[in-house]
Amino acid sequence: MVKQTIQIFARVKPPVRKHQQGIYSIDEDEKLIPSLEIILPRDLADGFVNNKRESYKFKFQRIFDQDAKQETIFENIAKPVAGSVLEGYNGTIFAYGQTGSGKTFTITGGAERYSDRGIIPRTLSYIFEQLQKDSSKMYTTHISYLEIYNECGYDLLDPRHEASSLEDLPKVTILEDPDQNIHLKNLTLHQATTEEEALNLLFLGDTNRMIAETPMNQASTRSHCIFTIHLSSKEPGSATVRHAKLHLVDLAGSERVAKTGVGGHLLTEAKYINLSLHYLEQVIIALSEKHRSHIPYRNSMMTSVLRDSLGGNCMTTMIATLSLEKRNLDESISTCRFAQRVALIKNEAVLNEEIDPRLMIKRLQKEIQELKDELAMVTGEQRTEALTEAELLQLEKLITSFLEDQDPESRLEVGADMRKVHHCFHHLKKLLNDKKIFGNNTVSNTVSSESKDQDCQEPLKEEEYRKLRDILKQRDHEINILVNMLKKEKKKAQEALHLAGMDRREFRHSQSPPFPPGNPEESQRMRLSSAPSQAQDFSILGNRSSLLHKKTGMREEMSLGRQEAFEIFKRDHADSVTIDDNKQILKQRFSEAKALGESINEARSKIGHLKEEITQRHIQQVALGISENMAVPLMPDQQEEKLRSQLEEEKRRYKTMFTRLKALKVEIEHLQLLMDKAKVKLQKEFEVWWAEEATNLQVNSPAVNSLDHTKPFLQTSDSLHEQSQLFSNKSDVNARKILPSPCPSPHSQKQSSTSTPLEDSIPKRPMSSIPLTGDSQTDSDILAFIKARQSILQKQCLGSN
Ligand code: ADP
Ligand code: MG
Repeated sequence: MVKQTIQIFARVKPPVRKHQQGIYSIDEDEKLIPSLEIILPRDLADGFVNNKRESYKFKFQRIFDQDAKQETIFENIAKPVAGSVLEGYNGTIFAYGQTGSGKTFTITGGAERYSDRGIIPRTLSYIFEQLQKDSSKMYTTHISYLEIYNECGYDLLDPRHEASSLEDLPKVTILEDPDQNIHLKNLTLHQATTEEEALNLLFLGDTNRMIAETPMNQASTRSHCIFTIHLSSKEPGSATVRHAKLHLVDLAGSERVAKTGVGGHLLTEAKYINLSLHYLEQVIIALSEKHRSHIPYRNSMMTSVLRDSLGGNCMTTMIATLSLEKRNLDESISTCRFAQRVALIKNEAVLNEEIDPRLMIKRLQKEIQELKDELAMVTGEQRTEALTEAELLQLEKLITSFLEDQDPESRLEVGADMRKVHHCFHHLKKLLNDKKIFGNNTVSNTVSSESKDQDCQEPLKEEEYRKLRDILKQRDHEINILVNMLKKEKKKAQEALHLAGMDRREFRHSQSPPFPPGNPEESQRMRLSSAPSQAQDFSILGNRSSLLHKKTGMREEMSLGRQEAFEIFKRDHADSVTIDDNKQILKQRFSEAKALGESINEARSKIGHLKEEITQRHIQQVALGISENMAVPLMPDQQEEKLRSQLEEEKRRYKTMFTRLKALKVEIEHLQLLMDKAKVKLQKEFEVWWAEEATNLQVNSPAVNSLDHTKPFLQTSDSLHEQSQLFSNKSDVNARKILPSPCPSPHSQKQSSTSTPLEDSIPKRPMSSIPLTGDSQTDSDILAFIKARQSILQKQCLGSN
C-alpha cells in the first residue's frame, strides 16, 4: 500500500500580452519547498477580498513557469503517475483553473503543433512503449472518455458518429452496487492495442466534444472531461489479474458566476458547473479536515466518479493552471487556495488484484482430479465418468423393487456414489413424466368414454379444424402484406443507396482542396497505413475518416454558391494558416518517411548480402578443409571479421532508422488527426457563419442588385462605421476568427438598432421565405451578399488608405 498526499503542481501560462512586471515571483530554493508569491498591485489590493494584504504565498511540489515545455510537464508530473499505473495502482491527474488558464492545453495539448501535444497523448505513448518492453506480463488496455455537463454524463466515444449536440450522445448514469462501488452505465470501454488506436479514440472523443458544442453551451469551458486508461496485467500462469485506472481530467473553468457575469440560460449552466465544482470543493474540505466521517461524494456525478481519486485508492496529482495577468489575480489566488486544501488530502493506493475466473476453473479442475485419485485410493475402485451398463441395470432393478415395496420404511440404498444417486433421480423423474402423459391420456379417455359419445366428439374436432384453418388463412394474408411492405422498403433503400453512391462519386470528383481525394497526403496516408503490420490501424483510420466524412459530409449537399462561400470563408479563416502549415510539415514528414523507408530497405538487403557472404565464406572454408584434408580454422579470418563488423554496423543503422520511422509514423498520425479536427472545426464554424449571413440577408435582403444604388452613402466614414456594425458578426468566436474583411471592424460595440441606408434601400424578404439550407437560389443570394459586402469593404479600405 502506498500512502501519499495529493501532489500539487502549478503551471503559469504565457501571457497573451506582455505581462505586467512584478505580479508574481517563484522562489525555488533547492532545499525548500518551492513557493509562488502573488503580489497585488496597490490599486487592486484595496478592497480586494476585504483585506489589504499585498502578497500571497503558496507552496507547491513544483512550479512551472511560462516557458515550461509540454515535455517537461509530462516528465515531471505525468510520467511518475503513469509509472505507478503500470505497477497496478490507480492514478489521477486533474487540471484546475479558470477558463483560458491552460487546462486543456496541459491535459490534451494545443491544436496546432505536434510539440504541443499534452499529457494524454504523451502518456499513451509512454504506456504503450513500456508495455512493449515488458514481456514478463500480459497487458490489456481499454479507453473511455466521459464528459460531464450540467450534472449529466455523456459518452464521448459513441461509435455511431451521429452527435450534433451533446444530447445525441449516449447518456451515462451512475449505478452503485451493494458494496458501494460505482459503476458507469452506458460508458463504453474501447480496447486499444496500439498507441495509434488509443490516439484515434482521443481524437474521436475530442471531435465529438467539439461538434456537440454550440456557442450556447460552450461545453469546453463548462464541462468536465475524464479520459480514462484502463490497464489490466497478468503474469503468465498466474490466476491473479491486476487492474489499474488512470483518469486524466480536464475540469470546467473554476471562475465564479459573479465574475463571469452571465445571465439567463448560461447562468443555470454556470451555476451547475459551479455546483459540481462546489461539491468537489466540499469533498476536498471534508477530506482535509481530520475526524470527518461523512464525505459528501454522492452530491454530484463528478465527485462520485472521482471518489477513489479523492481520499481513496489512488495516487492523485493536481495541476493548478494559472493565468497571472492583472485582471485574473483574484481567480489565480483562489485557484492556489484550493490547491493548498487539496494538498492536505491523504490517499492510500493499493494494488487492485483479482482472481481470473478462467484460471480459477483450471485450478479447480486440477483439484477435482486430485480428489478423484484420492477417492480411488480409499475405495479401491476406479470410478469413471459414466456408470456401466451392468450398474445401470442393477440400479433400475433397485428402483423398481423400491417403488413396489409397500413398506413405508423401505429405503433406496445405492451407496456413497453421487453418480448413482443422480441416476436414480433421473430415472424417477422419467417414470413420473411417463406416467403423467400416460395418465392424462387415461383421463381424457375416461372422460370421453364416460360422458361424451363418439358422435359428439366428431363435430367438435371438425369445428376446431375449421377455426385453425381460418387462423392459418389470416396469417398467410398478414405475411403477404408484410412481405410486400418489406419489398417496397428494400426497393426504396436500394434507390437511396444508389443515389447516395452517385452523389458521393460526383462529390468526390468536384471536391476541391484542401481535402481532395487525390491529395498526395491522403494517398500517402493510405500507403503508409496499409503496411501489413498495420492491418488493424487501417480499420481505425477508416473509422476516423468515416467520422470525418460524416462530420464534413454536409458539403455533399452544398450548392455551388455555398461551396464558393466556403472557399472564401476558408481562405480568410485564421485556422487555414495552421492547416496549411501542418500540411507542409506533413509533406516533409512523408518525404522523410519515404526516404527512410527506402534506406531501411537498402539496409535490409545489405544485411542480407553480408549474411550471405559470411555463409559463403564458411562453406568455402569447409570445402577447402575437406579437399586439402585440413582442419577448419576455429577463429574467423580477417576478411570475415570485417564482414561481421560491417554487418553489426548495418544492423545498428537499420535499428536507428526503424525507430525513427516508428516515431515519424506516430507524428504523422497525430498531425493528420490535428488537421482532421481543424477541418471539422472549420466546417462547423462555416455553418454558423453561413446561418448568420443568411440572417443578415433576411434583414438586408438581396443586397447585391441594390448595391450600386447605395454608392453615395458609402463615401462617408460614418456610414462605413455603421456598415461594419451592421455586418459585424454577433458571436464573439466568429467576430474574432471569421473575418473576410480587410478592414478592422469594431465588433465590441453593440449592434446598431437604427436602420442603415443599405437596409432602407433593400426590399425586405419575409423571414420564413429563406430556408437556411438546400435552396440553391437562396444560397447564391447569400453568396452574392457576402461578395458584395467584401467588395464594399475592400473599396472602403482602399479609399481610407
Ligand atoms: P482552458 O482549457 O483552461 O480554458 P486552454 O488550454 O484552452 O485553457 O488555453 C487557452 C489558450 O491558451 C489556448 O489557445 C492555448 O493554446 C493557450 N495556452 C494555454 N497554456 C499554454 C502554454 N503553456 N503555452 C502556450 N499556449 C498556451
Ligand atoms: Mg479547456
